[in-house]
Amino acid sequence: MASAEKRDYYEVLGVERSASADELKRAYKQLAIKFHPDRNPDDKQAEEEFKRVSEAYAALSDPDKRRRYDQLGHAAFDPNRGGTGFDAADFAGIGEILEGFLDDMFGRRGGASRLPKDLRYNLDISFEEAALGTERLIEYERSELCTQCKGARAEPGVPIPECPACRGRGEVRFQRGFFATSRPCFSCEGSGVRAEARCKLCEGKGSVPQKQTLRVKIPAGVENGAVRTLSGMGEETPAGNGDLHVHVSIKAHPLFTREGADILCEVPVSFPQAALGATLEVPTLEGKVSMRLPPGTQSGRVFRLRGKGLPVFGGYGKGDELVKVTVEVPEKLTPRQRELLEELSHEMGAGTHPQQQTFLDKLRGLFE
Ligand SMILES: [Zn+2]
Ligand SMILES: [Zn+2]
Repeated sequence: MASAEKRDYYEVLGVERSASADELKRAYKQLAIKFHPDRNPDDKQAEEEFKRVSEAYAALSDPDKRRRYDQLGHAAFDPNRGGTGFDAADFAGIGEILEGFLDDMFGRRGGASRLPKDLRYNLDISFEEAALGTERLIEYERSELCTQCKGARAEPGVPIPECPACRGRGEVRFQRGFFATSRPCFSCEGSGVRAEARCKLCEGKGSVPQKQTLRVKIPAGVENGAVRTLSGMGEETPAGNGDLHVHVSIKAHPLFTREGADILCEVPVSFPQAALGATLEVPTLEGKVSMRLPPGTQSGRVFRLRGKGLPVFGGYGKGDELVKVTVEVPEKLTPRQRELLEELSHEMGAGTHPQQQTFLDKLRGLFE
C-alpha cells in the first residue's frame, strides 16, 4: 500500500499528537476491544480496522518509533523509502497488552473462568394454555459454582494454587501475525490450577452440573415463538450468571387457528342447513356455544363471536372468534337422495340462484 493513502496514526487512534502514553493505551484498548475479531466474527472491515489500530499503537507506543514517525510520518516505516518496515516482532510487544485487555473483555480473570453462559429451554404449550395463560414447572440442568471452592478450582487454603506453566490462565496464548490465539494449557489441563492443589469436590472444574426446577409464568395471549428471559438462571460462573431463555412454542389446535388475538374456526354445514337456516354447535375456548345460522347463508361467510378470542397481549380487551361456514357437498348419494335432489333441481327455477343467473347473463353478453 502506498504510504500516501495511509491514515495518520494519531487520527486512527483518535488522539492528539501530544497524547501521553496512558492516553494512547486507553484509546487503543477501547478500539481493540471494539474491533477484535473474537467480537466481530467474519467481519472483514472490523478485522482491517483492528489491524490498523494495532499497527498505529505498535508504532506510537514505542518511544523510538514514535519519534521517527513524528519526524518522517509513514515514510519512517516504509521500506521503499528507506524506512525500517514492520514485522511480526513489532506486534509481539502489543500482544501482552492485548492479552490483558482480552482477559477483561471476556471475563477471564483469575483462572479459566468463562463468560457467563446463557441457556435455552424449549417449552411446548397447548393452544388453550397460550390463550388462558399458564404456569409451568420446568426442570433443566445448569452448571453451578462448586460449593467448596466457589469456582476458584483450587482447594481452599492451598498456598499458590496457580499452574506455573500458564500463570493460572488455563490457556496458553501465542501470537500469530496480528492475532493472539490460544490453546488449553497442557500441564494443568486447562484448569489453571496445579494438579495437587485442585479442589477435591469438583476435581478442579470449579462448577458442577445441577438440576434446577423453576416455576415459569406464561401470560395469557402469548404468541408462538415468544421468549421469556429469566435473568441469572443460566450457568453460574465466577464472573456472574447467564440468563435462561424460555422459548415458547404453541402446539397446533385441531379446530382453531390464530391470528393475533382473534381465533379462527371453520365449521362445515350441509346445503339444507345453509338454505333453511339452523342452530349450530360451535366450539369456543370456553366450551361449546349455540350459533344461529340464518336461512340462505352462503358458503364461506364469516360470523364474528365478539370477545371469544384471546386476551390482547400487552393490551386491553379480547379478540374475537371468527366462525367460517363452508357448505359441504355430498360426495356419495343413495338412489333415493339422488331422486329427491333431481326433483329439487327441476323445481328450482331461474329466480332461485341469483348469483348463477347473473353469471350466465354476463357470459352470454361476452360471447354474443
Ligand atoms: Zn471446587
Ligand atoms: Zn496451566
